[in-house]
Amino acid sequence: MAVLVTGGGGYIGSHMVWALLDAGEDVVVIDRLSTGFRWAIAPEARFYEGDIADADLLRRIVSENKVDAIIHFAGSIVVPESVSDPLGYYENNTVKSRSLIASAVEAGIPHFVFSSTAAVYGTPSVLEPVTEDLPLRPESPYGSSKLMTEIMLKDTAAAHDLTYTALRYFNVAGADPKGRSGQSSALATHLIKVACGTALGKRASMSVFGTDYQTPDGTCVRDYIHVWDLVQAHLKALQRMRAGGGSLAANCGYGHGYSVLEVLDAVRKVHGSDFPVTFAERRPGDPAMIVANPALAMKELAWTPELDDLEGIIASALDWERHLMRKNSAS
Ligand code: UDP
Repeated sequence: MAVLVTGGGGYIGSHMVWALLDAGEDVVVIDRLSTGFRWAIAPEARFYEGDIADADLLRRIVSENKVDAIIHFAGSIVVPESVSDPLGYYENNTVKSRSLIASAVEAGIPHFVFSSTAAVYGTPSVLEPVTEDLPLRPESPYGSSKLMTEIMLKDTAAAHDLTYTALRYFNVAGADPKGRSGQSSALATHLIKVACGTALGKRASMSVFGTDYQTPDGTCVRDYIHVWDLVQAHLKALQRMRAGGGSLAANCGYGHGYSVLEVLDAVRKVHGSDFPVTFAERRPGDPAMIVANPALAMKELAWTPELDDLEGIIASALDWERHLMRKNSAS
């Protein structure tokens, strides 16, 4: 059987492809390469360039490969961009996902893993780690576009022979421990990527957005999960569904958080030198603190995170940034 990975040229998707290949799976990738990279896709995977909403292409893929599962990463992920272009986000994330789910139903593909997000919770009303039963109140079109896809999957699973797992990611960071992939988008705005780039001199300086939050040091607290642990959770989700497990929505995080200042201190420590940081206004839409309660994923998926170490996450991200610098200077 083959696993179809959408967005396999992107950050998390490219790691997923390596993890599936490492596990002995047959892997097919669809990516239109709008933000992903062809070179990021493991050569052992069969690659189709195109759009997930191209039903004819999906028919061709399933006729040429024995696909029993789709792992769906393709989508747009920049929250402020979703605020300025909500219809673009609903088109790209929701409407196209609907088409992909319809293709799965038409082809009788029984298993679907969906890349969801902690943004479906909005700003949690509790300061404790969030559980899946909390109210789902996204505060951005990005979060809404993902929640709408979760709802489509839930309703489709009730009506058709399809089982899904929606994994709600917290703050994904780091790079493949074997150095085969990493976060390669020059436009990525995520804290650890930006801090590593600044430490290596790729940027002149960086900003800390907001120092007056109701948190111990006044900066936002997030649950940073190593991308390799995250893709292992997908693998476990696939195995669970193939073994007859039912549909599920589960958090993927470690259950504890770090403030922005703690992350920057860890980057200084791992890199071994200081770098320029300025203090700026709050960034709109940032909750003060959001940390996962991962108990459900750990129990249901039999998932045991192995790389829960902020300095290790940062070391792998720094290694990948150095790799990109060498790659760019060579080309
Ligand atoms: N952040 C920051 N400077 C940056 C990027 C991010 O201070 O250059 C902060 C951001 O305001 C948030 C935290 O770091 O409080 C994590 O942001 P990120 O964009 O990495 O992920 P998000 O939590 O928005 O998904």
